[in-house]
Amino acid sequence: MKRIAILGSTGSIGINTLDVIARLKSGFEVTALSASSNIELLSKQAKYFSPKALSIMDNRLEKELRGSVSTNVKVLSGEDGLLEIVSRSDVDLVVFAISGSICLKPLLAAIENRKEIALANKESLVSAGEIVMAAARKKGVRIIPIDSEHSAIFQCMEGRPRESLKRICLTSSGGPLLNVAKSKFKRLTKEFVLNHPRWKMGRKITVDSATLMNKGLEVIEARYLFDIDESDIEVLTHPEAVVHSMVELQDGSVIAQLADPDMRLPIQFALTYPERVASDVKKLDLAKIKRLNFQKPDLDKFPSLSLAREALKRGRTYPAVLNAADEEAVGMFLHDEMPFFKIPSMVEDVLARHEAPGAGRLTINDVLEADKWARMETCKLCCH
Ligand code: NDP
Ligand code: MG
Repeated sequence: MKRIAILGSTGSIGINTLDVIARLKSGFEVTALSASSNIELLSKQAKYFSPKALSIMDNRLEKELRGSVSTNVKVLSGEDGLLEIVSRSDVDLVVFAISGSICLKPLLAAIENRKEIALANKESLVSAGEIVMAAARKKGVRIIPIDSEHSAIFQCMEGRPRESLKRICLTSSGGPLLNVAKSKFKRLTKEFVLNHPRWKMGRKITVDSATLMNKGLEVIEARYLFDIDESDIEVLTHPEAVVHSMVELQDGSVIAQLADPDMRLPIQFALTYPERVASDVKKLDLAKIKRLNFQKPDLDKFPSLSLAREALKRGRTYPAVLNAADEEAVGMFLHDEMPFFKIPSMVEDVLARHEAPGAGRLTINDVLEADKWARMETCKLCCH
């Protein structure tokens, strides 16, 4: 029996994770769940899965949540609630399904407590990749990616030594703006941007898919997860989203992982690893799909991808600043405070103003400070 905690159970990945657990029927027990403010869905999930603990980020809702679930359930709140969940002795594996670098401290705490990690959240790895991976190595904790591209690479590398890996090719569906001319970006509505052709996901990652910042963040994520140079990570647009990513081995052989686009597959793999068990994922019918297309991404139309690569090359706190500025800029767009086309230039301006702390080992405080600074700087720029 694997005892699971899901941070962000009311979101797209969280709901899919519970769906996978319900379908697997045995072998998994849901010990703890968390949400930001959606107590209605959280208490509904609690009734069905009977977890021992729940946590709500918004402290003001703690009392209401307590009133809506059984008295046996421990109700927690705020960041402390997440930290308590990842420290519980009755949790074996933590699924990180919250979006944003808010996951960073709970992720490090889960590693410290030697929990198995199933990681959907990419922002914390982008912000503090070296620190997170060093902590995981030190504690002997394996991080299993849920992000479909990284799950694909992880699967392609199963049973192979790191030395056999030469290059990574991350595929990208191209997002909702693949076939929209750049000249139209100024007039894009939120509804249009949020309508992704291949994946149904949370709002932040869907906007990131539209700017291709999502792919930029994924390049950084891959850099740290697979210990590979930025220059050895290629991005290819692949609108069918069937090849989830590929690895090129030292001898030139290329291995890919293919499946119908459905996040329940990488989620299930992260939960059952190293076992493979039956799933409900639709059978891949290549004869019906007929053609798989690949092309280089348009870097002029989508400058965010180059911004992310640049931040990664500069290292230090630049990736954390890139991520925090993007989180803020996307948030402003979603609150109708900024037009879509300004998101990349906002991130670029904040990066240009950043001065990373001097030489010496980067600490988690450096990262948190840079994250905070970048958020304030983005707000300042937006108000001008
Ligand atoms: P959603 O927005 O759908 O869900 C986010 C979840 O986190 C919700 O449960 C939400 O609670 C909770 N949450 C949001 N903000 C906070 C906060 N500040 N503190 C505590 N909890 C919070 O996101 P997704 O499921 O789409 O994405 C989650 C992560 O997974 C992201 O990092 C994303 O990049 C990554 N990912 C997602 C994929 C997908 O298919 N969706 C694919 C690959 C990666 P509430 O419901 O109460 O707001
Ligand atoms: Mg992805």
